[in-house]
Amino acid sequence: MPMIPVASPRSAGRLDVIAGPMFSGKSEELMRRVRRAKIAGVKVLVLSHSLDTRSDLSAITSHDGINIPAVPVGDVESLAEVARADDFDLVAIDEAQFFGPDLVPTVFELVERGATVIVEGLCVTFDGGPFEPMPTFMAVAEDVLKLTAVCTICGRDAVFHQRVGTPGFIAEDSEPRATDIDASHIGGLESYVARCREHFAPPR
Ligand code: ADP
Ligand code: MG
Repeated sequence: MPMIPVASPRSAGRLDVIAGPMFSGKSEELMRRVRRAKIAGVKVLVLSHSLDTRSDLSAITSHDGINIPAVPVGDVESLAEVARADDFDLVAIDEAQFFGPDLVPTVFELVERGATVIVEGLCVTFDGGPFEPMPTFMAVAEDVLKLTAVCTICGRDAVFHQRVGTPGFIAEDSEPRATDIDASHIGGLESYVARCREHFAPPR
């Protein structure tokens, strides 16, 4: 089970992962843990990617519009700079996939310095492949929470999300690739839908 960090002499910290497709409640779960940690009086840093323009830049927002304050950063270097600036007990990172695989060594460094790091993000691309860096984090985390959304066709557990109108859709050069680190992974009900294994129809 994930634990709230306690203020004590610093030894190595821990890595907790919250992973799943879009709409699976990753941001809600991250916000719940951050709220609890703040009640416990630990020093918390919440980081979001400045590509995520769904709401106020200085907040994490769920698909239901709930939000908590966050520091927006544009790349791994800026993230590392903000996170190293103080001895945070808990560093929470929203939408980790936006930072790409370069995020891995920075997160490991923060954990080794004694922080509890919660990394939240998409572990699957919209064409159904693994989405780094989440699979790497899942391999070495102290705790992994793998969430599912609700399939918008049948209501079963959805481990995938796909772009709206994807059945029969043929990717053009101008279409975003599933692993692109750009705004194509931002969106809500208007751009993506959650799908179970049976109803998932990835782009060809
Ligand atoms: P994530 O960060 O994983 O994309 P959020 O935490 O932002 O997800 O939002 C989760 C919320 O999205 C749910 O509590 C629910 O109200 C809403 N939602 C909308 N569509 C779906 C769906 N298909 N499956 C599950 N939740 C959905
Ligand atoms: Mg989210």
